[in-house]
Amino acid sequence: MSQPSAVEVDPVERKQALRTQRLAIALAVYAPCALLLYLVEWFGFLPGGFTLVWAGLFAGANLLFFLLIRSRLNLRFADPSMTMAQMSVAIAAVALILYHAQAARGALLMFLPVIVVFGVLQLSTAQVLVMGALAVLTYAAVILLLAINRPASVDLRLEWVQWIALTATLAVLCALVGYMSGVRQRLSQSLRTIRDMAQHDALTGAFNRHHLADTLEREIGRCERASPAFLALMVDIDHFKRINDRHGHLVGDEVLRLVAQEIRAALRKSDYVARYGGEEFVVLMAAADPASSPAACERLRARIARMVAPQLAGEPVTVSIGGAAYREGDTAASLLERADTALYRAKHGGRNRVELDLSAAADADAQPPRI
Ligand code: GH3
Ligand code: MG
Ligand code: MG
Repeated sequence: MSQPSAVEVDPVERKQALRTQRLAIALAVYAPCALLLYLVEWFGFLPGGFTLVWAGLFAGANLLFFLLIRSRLNLRFADPSMTMAQMSVAIAAVALILYHAQAARGALLMFLPVIVVFGVLQLSTAQVLVMGALAVLTYAAVILLLAINRPASVDLRLEWVQWIALTATLAVLCALVGYMSGVRQRLSQSLRTIRDMAQHDALTGAFNRHHLADTLEREIGRCERASPAFLALMVDIDHFKRINDRHGHLVGDEVLRLVAQEIRAALRKSDYVARYGGEEFVVLMAAADPASSPAACERLRARIARMVAPQLAGEPVTVSIGGAAYREGDTAASLLERADTALYRAKHGGRNRVELDLSAAADADAQPPRI
């Protein structure tokens, strides 16, 4: 129940999984490439045994990327996705083919634009352009090497025409891939913002009731699978209507923000807070040791009572807290209802106090409200 919930997948792990997935996609492209090369070799355009050596070499290079991700060493790099490094290896793989491909070289040049397209998954426009330039320069280097080492077997005029065609193709492709990559980045940024807005309360920054309902269901599911129990607290500001009436709604809003801030500061990282509505918050608190729960709730109450709201000219803000420990068979609604009943006791007991329901037995007559 962290903020975000501990049950949510760690974003670093999610990215690492995505990186492994991308590597798998690249390998899925290498495999048919090897088949195609074998065909080219079979037709006699590549030296015998070339495909086997080529496949071994680049399977090894990709195994290295895989091991870097698995060992998490990639996280130390400036770009943990290693996209440019992987693309450079792929360009080197194509360079080796081009050098040996004799008359089939022109046809096999098509591999280079395919590599550049991969940039759309991760790279910025500038980085895509760098990879495009690397592809073009690599082919130029292959032509020069052929001119030096095998001048008799290469028609340089044809090669340079192909080079110009490749450069023109990659220039257009890089511009397009760079643009699409920019759109992808803007879309994922918008998606993050939308997700953020859909999960949080705009005034206090705490999670909203919708997110609470999902989280509570998940936490209960987790407890049913024998995870340590937790406590649901209803935290309700005392006489908040009076604060609004005396100081105005804007000051009321500021007090809500401050209380949310204090609650967040009082909680551990593994705890969770959502604004339930109006001036009520729900806190989900891990309770590995239930005996320590009353003290933790008391600390939360006392902390808010000590809080100084500059706009209230010394007038204290207090909260009443009603809490219930999760017990077997609880639903989100039944758990919150018991916390609400405890809150009612705290209010009637004089406010600025904590009341907890830590009982283990279920109340069969409870009529769970909707959350
Ligand atoms: P109690 O101690 O019994 O909880 O009394 P209370 O005055 O806090 O509770 P009551 O339910 O009577 O009033 C809650 C008030 O909270 C009424 C409502 O106008 C105000 N309120 C609800 N949401 C907001 C908000 O977003 N901003 C502000 N400023 N006030 C709000
Ligand atoms: Mg209330
Ligand atoms: Mg209140």
